[in-house]
Amino acid sequence: MSQPTPTTGAINRLIQELSKLPGIGPKSAQRIAFYLMRAGDDQAKSLAEAITSMKQQVRLCSVCCNVTDSDPCAICRNGQRDRTRICIVEQPQDVIAIEHTGVYKGLYHVLHGAISPTEGVGAGDIRIKELLNRLQNNAAAEVILATNTNLEGEQTALYLQRLITPLGMKVTRLARGLPFGTELEYADDMTLTRAFEGRQEF
Ligand SMILES: [Zn+2]
Repeated sequence: MSQPTPTTGAINRLIQELSKLPGIGPKSAQRIAFYLMRAGDDQAKSLAEAITSMKQQVRLCSVCCNVTDSDPCAICRNGQRDRTRICIVEQPQDVIAIEHTGVYKGLYHVLHGAISPTEGVGAGDIRIKELLNRLQNNAAAEVILATNTNLEGEQTALYLQRLITPLGMKVTRLARGLPFGTELEYADDMTLTRAFEGRQEF
């Protein structure tokens, strides 16, 4: 049991909620809670409303499973994108990282995770069924496997390659310029661009 904090129940509750956020330890949670207590009503209200409306408005694109305010998402709706290529990533943040390089003009599919037997995540727990339905209805000229280069990402890429290759589509994997263990969202633009340009048949 942690020491009881000498403060009010309402502040404690906020500190507890903030501590659950990624990258925020108990000290930061305390600092943010007391900052908000001192901040003007407007600021606290605007933060609370931003969180609530994000939860109400954000949904998954029915085509690519990326997060979006409107369905289909802006990338799927964009007539300028190359509809013959689909890049498969683990997380919405990976789409942001790849879009930032400007090297890719095709479409995406967001899996929302990777297969990880050690963490009990199976193929049915991520958006693979949606991907297969999509590919069966709309064949792609190239499917680019851009999962992370760690164990889970590699396992997921291999699993997808075995499913997609028999459908008669070209399957590529990002080049090895990305060091093993790299999470795409943290790769720098140059490395990510090179990995894209050097992608190879998988
Ligand atoms: Zn979409």
